[in-house]
Amino acid sequence: MGLIFPRRLGGSDDSHVAYAMAMEEIAAGCAATSLVFMTQMHAAYPIFVAGSDALAERYIPGLLDGSVYGALGITEPSAGSDVASLRTAARRVSDGYVVNGSKTFITTGDRAGVIVCFATVDHALGRDGVTALVIDGSTPGVSRGRPFDKLGMHGSSTAELFFDDVHVPGDHLLGEEGGGWSVVMSSVVKSRISAAAQGVGLARAAYARTLAALSARHGRRLPDEATFALAQLRGQILQGRLLLIAAARQVDAEGTVPPDRIGIMKQACTDLGFRAAVDAARILGPLGDLADLGVERCVRDAKVTQIYDGTNEIQRLLIGRATARALESL
Ligand SMILES: Cc1cc2nc3c(=O)[nH]c(=O)nc-3n(C[C@H](O)[C@H](O)[C@H](O)COP(=O)(O)OP(=O)(O)OC[C@H]3O[C@@H](n4cnc5c(N)ncnc54)[C@H](O)[C@@H]3O)c2cc1C
Repeated sequence: MGLIFPRRLGGSDDSHVAYAMAMEEIAAGCAATSLVFMTQMHAAYPIFVAGSDALAERYIPGLLDGSVYGALGITEPSAGSDVASLRTAARRVSDGYVVNGSKTFITTGDRAGVIVCFATVDHALGRDGVTALVIDGSTPGVSRGRPFDKLGMHGSSTAELFFDDVHVPGDHLLGEEGGGWSVVMSSVVKSRISAAAQGVGLARAAYARTLAALSARHGRRLPDEATFALAQLRGQILQGRLLLIAAARQVDAEGTVPPDRIGIMKQACTDLGFRAAVDAARILGPLGDLADLGVERCVRDAKVTQIYDGTNEIQRLLIGRATARALESL
């Protein structure tokens, strides 16, 4: 899981392009596995960018070699798209913080040993109160809900997390107190690359499974409508991959990508994954409904990629705002 991490922490010091390609490949084989894979990186990355060396050495190697599960805890029952309104409270005490509150829809939340938790030191401060903490999953007061029954991604669990007077040592703070917003912002660039790669991988899987099923039925001469639909799909997959790789390359070269550009990529690639899966099911007719062929699974797995890591509506909002700013400056 350590493609983009340094070797001293158990990573392989590779590029974001390599990460995006690996994610796409895993998602094309099994999207749920890619969700488990990416979540380890998503938990390790905030510790890497904002944690002390000691914290990074303590927690990151286990997340990268898979000996411990990680979770990234942002979403709450009444705060997800609007991160700044989160209510999980971190109260300062002499030797650290005491955390109270809950998180929901947390990937691997039912089993995570390392939880990167975003809490607030003062709800009234909005985003300036957001504070990132590493919580050891075995700390007294941490409890978990049962994994949710979901539409897709069944190989990856999603659960609630509860914090009841959880004591967090002061050295488990990531960055500054009240500096959690910038940790979120630097993390979403990586997580949106992950979701986009899943979209491209799922589109590829739907395409390949459809081609295999149609070839088995019709041999080398496919019906014209299927040929046209598959040709269009193939072009769209290539467009999605080029967008994904361009963003990953920009992160490699410049360290980040502006929010609207990363949003364009996330939205386009995850919409591609869902649309391609639905299209593939349509091309196959009744066969598209059969679990054996795996196309219906692509439809189910692709849906959530449009929802997490910032819903595609939120991406469109960010893109729209950036467009308005650009127009104002003309
Ligand atoms: C399987 C799964 C795994 C997840 N894993 C994690 C995880 O590991 N960690 C984590 O922290 N979260 C995780 N999430 C949560 C996910 O990131 C959030 O559900 C998502 O960001 C949406 O936030 P919300 O739940 O607050 O929904 P809401 O913000 O309430 O959204 C509801 C609907 O309203 C729309 N909407 C909201 N605000 C606006 C607006 N201003 N303009 C237009 N439309 C708007 C949204 O697009 C959406 O369609 C996961 C979710 C799922 C389903």
